[in-house]
Amino acid sequence: MKNIVILGATGSIGDSTLDIISRFPGQFRILGLTAKSRDAKLEKLIERHAPKVVALADLKAAAALKKRIGNKRVKVLAGEAGLVEVAGLAEADLVISAIVGAAGLLPTLSAIQAGKTVALANKEPLVMAGEIIQREAKLKGVSILPIDSEHSAVFQALHGERHEDIKRMILTASGGPLLRHSDIEKRKVTRKEALAHPNWKMGPKISIDSATLMNKGLEIIEARWLFDLPPDKIDVVIHPQSIIHSMVEFVDRSVIAQLGLPDMRTPISYVLHYPKRAPLDLPSLDLATVGTLTFEKPDLKAFPLLNTAYETLKSGGTLPAVLNAANEEAVAAFLNAQIGFTEIEAVIHQTLEAHSPQSADTLEAVIEADEWARMEGKRWIRHYARC
Ligand code: NAD
Ligand code: MG
Repeated sequence: MKNIVILGATGSIGDSTLDIISRFPGQFRILGLTAKSRDAKLEKLIERHAPKVVALADLKAAAALKKRIGNKRVKVLAGEAGLVEVAGLAEADLVISAIVGAAGLLPTLSAIQAGKTVALANKEPLVMAGEIIQREAKLKGVSILPIDSEHSAVFQALHGERHEDIKRMILTASGGPLLRHSDIEKRKVTRKEALAHPNWKMGPKISIDSATLMNKGLEIIEARWLFDLPPDKIDVVIHPQSIIHSMVEFVDRSVIAQLGLPDMRTPISYVLHYPKRAPLDLPSLDLATVGTLTFEKPDLKAFPLLNTAYETLKSGGTLPAVLNAANEEAVAAFLNAQIGFTEIEAVIHQTLEAHSPQSADTLEAVIEADEWARMEGKRWIRHYARC
């Protein structure tokens, strides 16, 4: 029995993780679950999976849940401190890090510092604080197993290979729902259009990141820290069918790709059973039905944030943390109908421009940069909202 903690249990990755776990009765025990504020959904998960401890980031939601169910069946914790406690539970064997955004940074670090194997979907903490997270993981001898489909593909392609034999990795990107939109069309894009990813069903923030291609930018930075490769060894190719999840080219020019239908349950099952594989009753990839796999160069003029992320990674320091925080604020503002779609990139670029980068080797420096970027980003959001 593996004891599992799921951070961000009420989200899209949380749902898929619980789906996989329920297919293997007797193999996994749900020890802890966390969420932001959806106490009613968390209550249903408590009934179904009987965790020992849960935490809600939102204090009011935690109080409401505690009032309804008491502390008998399950311990209910509240706030960031509660999340950090669940992430570091002594009995946990595997922590699924599936919170969205910077809110996952301290809980993910808490799991690593407690010496837990971490299965990582929550890419934003690695973007902000990759150096610190990898340093702590090394110190504690902790493995970080990727859930993100591209990184899972690379991780699988690297199985049994030597790091020095890697020539480069090639991350695939679907191009998102706006791949063929003109600049003028993008200016008028609605939330519904931007959220409608052609191949994947995901939470709102990553869906918008896929529409701007910022998601691929964040994934370049994620890959840099997960696989310890310099930016010039990380390439991106547009592959609208999302069948090849990513590839690795080796020094002898051999390329290993990982393929499958786009379904996050496969990479999630992989980390749950790692290093084994378990049979999953899901549809098989039928290449004859798919018919054609196509590839194209990303259009950096149409999707400038991909290049911005790349440049930010190359410059390093606190810039990636600023990029991430400005993006989170801009995406939230777009989803709240405060700014238009193309203003997401404007807010990010203005915020990066105004930043004086520092070294990002302490948590304080990263958090300070994150807080500064949110203030600066909000200033630009107010500016564009008035225009
Ligand atoms: P989601 O919005 O569906 O779920 C997010 C989860 O995080 C929820 O449980 C929510 O309660 C929790 N949460 C949100 N804000 C929080 C806060 N301030 N404090 C504590 N908890 C908070 O998101 P998702 O699509 O499941 O994505 C989760 C992470 O996984 C993201 O980093 C995303 O980039 C990554 N990811 C998702 C997919 C996917 O298919 N959904 C694929 C690859 C990577
Ligand atoms: Mg991905």
